[in-house]
Amino acid sequence: MYIGYNLDMNGEMIEKLFADTAYIRVGGTDAERRCAEYLSAQCSALFGKEKGNAFLYPFDVQMGEIHTALLTVTDKNGTREIPCNGYMCAGSHEVEAPFFYLRAPDDKMSLASVRGKIVLFDGYLGYHLYQSLCEYGAVGFISYDGNVHFADRDKDKRELRSYVADANGTKCGREKLPGVHINAKDAVSLIENDTVTAKIKLLQYEYTGQSQNVILELPGTNASGEVIVLTAHYDSTPLSQGAYDNMSGAICLLSMAEYFMSHAHSRTLRFIWCGSEERGLLGSKAYCQKETDALKVICLCINVDMIGCTMGKFIACCTSEEALVHYIAYMGREEGFQVQAYQDVYSSDSTPFSDRGIPSVSFARSAPRETAMIHNAYDTAASIKTAQMNDDIAFITSFASRMANAEYMPVLRVIPDNMREKLDRYLCRKK
Ligand SMILES: [Zn+2]
Repeated sequence: MYIGYNLDMNGEMIEKLFADTAYIRVGGTDAERRCAEYLSAQCSALFGKEKGNAFLYPFDVQMGEIHTALLTVTDKNGTREIPCNGYMCAGSHEVEAPFFYLRAPDDKMSLASVRGKIVLFDGYLGYHLYQSLCEYGAVGFISYDGNVHFADRDKDKRELRSYVADANGTKCGREKLPGVHINAKDAVSLIENDTVTAKIKLLQYEYTGQSQNVILELPGTNASGEVIVLTAHYDSTPLSQGAYDNMSGAICLLSMAEYFMSHAHSRTLRFIWCGSEERGLLGSKAYCQKETDALKVICLCINVDMIGCTMGKFIACCTSEEALVHYIAYMGREEGFQVQAYQDVYSSDSTPFSDRGIPSVSFARSAPRETAMIHNAYDTAASIKTAQMNDDIAFITSFASRMANAEYMPVLRVIPDNMREKLDRYLCRKK
């Protein structure tokens, strides 16, 4: 076993934190708020009222309360209804049209066939796919998840994200497209039965709701004013308890806060438990958008998204100069801790910070899909091994301690051109 830092948080406490938060907590819901208050209360309980004075940092999020979501299809056997969830924030519509399965969304010939049709596609609805559907004249869409070999018929609840629809759908020059989400078994049945037409009825009440980050600040002792932010999202997707993704990271931050409460750190540490990450990094984006002055003194973002799983390797994804990659790789060897460090953009709360010029590293233990799943009902604490949590937290704490106490901040505050290019692609500014 890796012996890194001697952590204060014991295994029982880690298990209790997982057990206490074993519920679905989607960004903008009461359950998410309850979890934010829980984390804030944990800070007070662990660190005392004065030092552990965490606060909630609210921000607006778009919400949709779906009243009706129906998918009716006609095929060679007649007409039938397919169980579905409506896309939140995709408006209210009723549309009937020929059905089309878009197998290759990057193929212009395939796209040319979507005009006037309700389109089934594989995978997630990203910005470019949605824009293509609009541009080529689709009138509705159907997505799916799950697995045809699994016993369940779960179907996720999806939303038309504002950045996917491009600020009120203005780029399409028309209303948003209505969409529904179904199980993979039903998606296959649509093709097997040669579906001819589809009808979507979607009715919802859309409004502005509130999500929140939780922030705890531990002031440093030196006068440089430099701040290191430590981020981890605590929200989950609609079917998931999000133990691995990402209560594991949220617990890591609590454990690190506990450590640094009684250990030296010359730089100020700002812990941000981010809300609504799963809805498109909304918590970190809101923070970076509003706190432009605070960003000026942030020298590094350390993000933790999914650790402690029983199986899989530990990774460090650096959106920074390449030197940090080598530093972390050497540190792993020095401490006898396996870590695969590389330079890239990680799909998590580190990205809005790096997009504002702040170097970041995201730590994760990457589980083989056969052993731990995310964004569905299988993401529970059963995927987590407490001793592994402790080892992962110990390594991240060790790294954070080096950065927090370095005489001169070793990571340059630059985002190299190759990473800028990747950020442009990730944030849909380039294809
Ligand atoms: Zn995550």
